[in-house]
Amino acid sequence: METQLRVKEMSSWSNLIKNKPVIISGPCSAETEDQTIKTAIALKQIGINIYRAGIWKPRTRPNSFEGVGSIGLEWLKTVKKETGMLLSVEVANVKHVYESLKAGIDILWVGARTTANPFAIQEIADALKGMDIPVLIKNPVNPDVDLWLGAIERFYQAGLTKIGAVHRGFSSFDKSIYRNIPQWQIPIELKTRIPEIPLFCDPSHIAGNDELIQQLSQKAIDLNFDGLMIETHPYPDKAWSDAKQQITPDHLNQILKSLVIREEKPRGISLEAIEDIRFKIDNCDTELLNILERRMNLVKAIGLYKKENKMTILQPGRWDEVLGKSIEKGLQKNLNERFVADIFKTIHQESINKQNKIMND
Ligand code: PEP
Ligand code: MN
Repeated sequence: METQLRVKEMSSWSNLIKNKPVIISGPCSAETEDQTIKTAIALKQIGINIYRAGIWKPRTRPNSFEGVGSIGLEWLKTVKKETGMLLSVEVANVKHVYESLKAGIDILWVGARTTANPFAIQEIADALKGMDIPVLIKNPVNPDVDLWLGAIERFYQAGLTKIGAVHRGFSSFDKSIYRNIPQWQIPIELKTRIPEIPLFCDPSHIAGNDELIQQLSQKAIDLNFDGLMIETHPYPDKAWSDAKQQITPDHLNQILKSLVIREEKPRGISLEAIEDIRFKIDNCDTELLNILERRMNLVKAIGLYKKENKMTILQPGRWDEVLGKSIEKGLQKNLNERFVADIFKTIHQESINKQNKIMND
């Protein structure tokens, strides 16, 4: 699906996010006034300017801590007074929106469970109609790029222009080293469809532990993400929600210092060398297409032959041989087995489709 969506008027939004990577940090949940303010002061000291804290927590199971509620907004006001940080909270319904706006929250985000529900998204978008506030939209829990895009479009149609997307990974029944599997191709696809949208990564909810945050953050930067949302707590072990994945502000500082910052087009370097390589890559791509054209012409010839001689299209022995040989040759050329197999399966499928057409014409 093509989208007409363009984030129109990005002036103040792009001002806010011009120094990549933009870091948003703070606890999973505001728990006490002391913890909320202490975390903010520690973060401000390491140069973080955008604070996050969950006030209303969407929890998978009941009877766990579901957030402190509106009182947390008072603590956040104090954070702003003491540190000058911008404040962001998660909103999941209209009441959350009104209370957050009244409390002077600067940025809203919608969580993964909310993005998966178009009714909820529409209600929140309607409540924000014509407002100027930035809204960050986390990916839905399921790996559905259209559902994510749909939520973005609902806010956009409500007149909001400062929209960002947050990649926080996708649930899966399968066991994995991640709490939520990254499936990087999904945020990449989103960015391809709406190139203007600022893209954040939330390595905390992808990882589910404190060990993978550094490498996930680096990967996001390598992929040209605009920012990171990372959960921090003064005493992660004692956190009331998401204890395993929260890190101290000090630990965050170490991680940020270790990141290699990459730019799409670093200033002051000549692009000539890369242009030369790109020219050669374009030539390779043309060659690949020419070869595919030749191959498909041969497939046409073999299709006609099989039709005349009443042979089946699929010749399993021959296909096994082609695939096996290709993988073997690929390995000698340092080409990943899975990669070669995927390409040849796609080519084979297209060959079958072509021959099918010839047989039935
Ligand atoms: C959160 O940011 O604390 C949160 C609940 O995240 P998600 O919606 O990604 O699960
Ligand atoms: Mn959390």
